[in-house]
Amino acid sequence: MAINPTVNATEDESRALAEASRETTWRGRSFVRELFLGTLRVDWIDPYPETPESEDFKRFYVAMESFLQHEVDSIKIDREGEYGQDVIDGLRRLGAFGMKIDKKYGGLGLNQAEYCKMVELIGSYDGSIVALLSAHTSIGIPQPLKLFGTEEQKQKYLTRCAAGAISAFALTEPDVGSDPARLATNLERTEDGDFIMSGEKLWITNGTAAELMVVMARHNDTKRISAVIVEMDWEGVSIGNRCRFMGLKALENGVIHFDKVKIPKENLVGTEGSGLKVALITLNTGRLSLPAACIGSNRRCVEWSREFASKRVQWGAPVGHHEAVAHKIADMAATTYAMESWCHLANELAMRKGYDIRLEAATAKEWGSTRNWDNIDDLMQVRGGRGYETEQSQMDRGEIARPVERVMRDSRINRIFEGSSEIMHLFMAREMVDQHLKIAGALLEKKATVGDKIKALPGIIAFYGRWYPKTWFGLFTPFRYGQFGAMAKHLRYAERASRRLARNVFHGMVWYQAKLEKKQAFLFRTVDIAMEIAVLVATIVRTQKLKKAGAPNAEQAIALADLHAKNARRYIDDRFRALWSNDDDAKYKVGRQVLDGDHAWLEDQTRVPETTEAKTDAADQLVAK
Ligand SMILES: Cc1cc2nc3c(=O)[nH]c(=O)nc-3n(C[C@H](O)[C@H](O)[C@H](O)COP(=O)(O)OP(=O)(O)OC[C@H]3O[C@@H](n4cnc5c(N)ncnc54)[C@H](O)[C@@H]3O)c2cc1C
Repeated sequence: MAINPTVNATEDESRALAEASRETTWRGRSFVRELFLGTLRVDWIDPYPETPESEDFKRFYVAMESFLQHEVDSIKIDREGEYGQDVIDGLRRLGAFGMKIDKKYGGLGLNQAEYCKMVELIGSYDGSIVALLSAHTSIGIPQPLKLFGTEEQKQKYLTRCAAGAISAFALTEPDVGSDPARLATNLERTEDGDFIMSGEKLWITNGTAAELMVVMARHNDTKRISAVIVEMDWEGVSIGNRCRFMGLKALENGVIHFDKVKIPKENLVGTEGSGLKVALITLNTGRLSLPAACIGSNRRCVEWSREFASKRVQWGAPVGHHEAVAHKIADMAATTYAMESWCHLANELAMRKGYDIRLEAATAKEWGSTRNWDNIDDLMQVRGGRGYETEQSQMDRGEIARPVERVMRDSRINRIFEGSSEIMHLFMAREMVDQHLKIAGALLEKKATVGDKIKALPGIIAFYGRWYPKTWFGLFTPFRYGQFGAMAKHLRYAERASRRLARNVFHGMVWYQAKLEKKQAFLFRTVDIAMEIAVLVATIVRTQKLKKAGAPNAEQAIALADLHAKNARRYIDDRFRALWSNDDDAKYKVGRQVLDGDHAWLEDQTRVPETTEAKTDAADQLVAK
């Protein structure tokens, strides 16, 4: 069995690798990037874009819905921890494994927006099935080959995926979670230019069922990382443990071993050494399917809260009529509407030429998964004991059953995989300070000398002399957005908030200088503000479109948008306040004290012995006492 050697990487080395793998050029416009700099480009997203759905998509949607309703037993899948061959065969029959693959390779050819609408649908039914299809489609073979594959690779592998071959994406290792600098799976060059791969990958979704896998591994000579396509029936590939989790019970997830596996050079994805870039760019668009699943689950939050809270009578009224519950339900509905507004926009922009949506996708992932979790928690609270009770148990008692506890278990991972919340914040914070780094990097770089700083001064004065005053004054803001009627005030607020954000980031940079990088609480708040402004603007712009079109639900949409905007504005104001008035240093100090064991006295009373021997010793001591 191949066990990875330990690869040590210092903080500087980890950062250097992240920098080297970062896309430094922007392939097009980015609404969020502009917002970071204090410019609100409402004109880039207004009118709210919506591509008409194809007839193929509509047919597929109906077929999938019917399949989920009639042929998927989610209680059984969750209980047995298996999809069942009938479900896998059914998905193959529908063509689900080729949803997003071009028709010329045998796929259904759905576009990004259509694909995510399918994920919304499936996400409203079954988390395990979403994870299977999304790991395959969004990050498995189809997406990296679409972006980086050669024509031969596409002909060979996309056709297999479209016909139902399941695929996976393997980056994580026991020592590699958020930090790929420690990646140890090893590629050795053969004389004829092929590779021999050895190593171990951990928690690979679909890994225990896949035919094909994209694997990130490090060349032992150049130390660079490449992405390679591996066929799971090749000699030397084996499955270690199947991993089991709190939710997503049927996930075909496991430890995968590679023991001197021969990889033909034709199976390199992208250029040699660009593997991490392949992985990160794949995830840029790939991570849009996760918030789509969150939309599906959020819709059920609204539905299951409404149906319960409007009928369940306690203290003389339906529980939903008590203010505490009504508020939760209102927020859930407004959040669901806002989540749709942002995620649909991000998908549309992903399909447009001239846009670079890496920050839009990161916002969708981070904002969507966090708010979805909050809403599921509220749903559980609204349904009380029935939220905590399993679906089967509710059915056994003869009640209408809703799987709130399963949805909660299934959804928690969304804040951890495909870029954890912390990593998404760091990723966005890096882009937020990018322009400043380019101009005033010498101020922020801890290794910069006084000479470097002096040399950078003319450029700094030239840029900030023009840019900085603009972050204070928006002479025309009070006259803008009149066409949005009563909603205009929210856009004016967003415009002022984006300028205030930009100048606060600048103030943070001047105040903390090279230490800014370590001030995660400060940086994360600025990212939270940016995400909130972005979602707020998308929600208003979408509502404006519905209003102008005289859509049947326009009045209701205006009410939801207005509530969402009010919530967002309070949240943003709070975050702004906390930027400069907080307990960050005190909290960090206590955190470090806890880590150093200074507060282990708190743990002593209830310390649980870890090994069987220790347990026996503890039991003996107890008897002796
Ligand atoms: C169910 C499941 C399915 C998965 N599927 C796949 C898959 O298909 N393919 C694959 O390659 N991987 C997969 N993973 C792995 C997943 O992507 C990782 O769990 C994730 O990247 C986080 O890594 P980690 O768990 O090792 O956490 P760690 O990296 O150990 O981090 C622990 C905590 O510290 C935080 N943290 C880390 N670094 C920093 C920092 N610099 N600043 C602030 N906070 C930080 C993290 O956000 C996290 O909260 C899966 C995991 C699970 C549980």
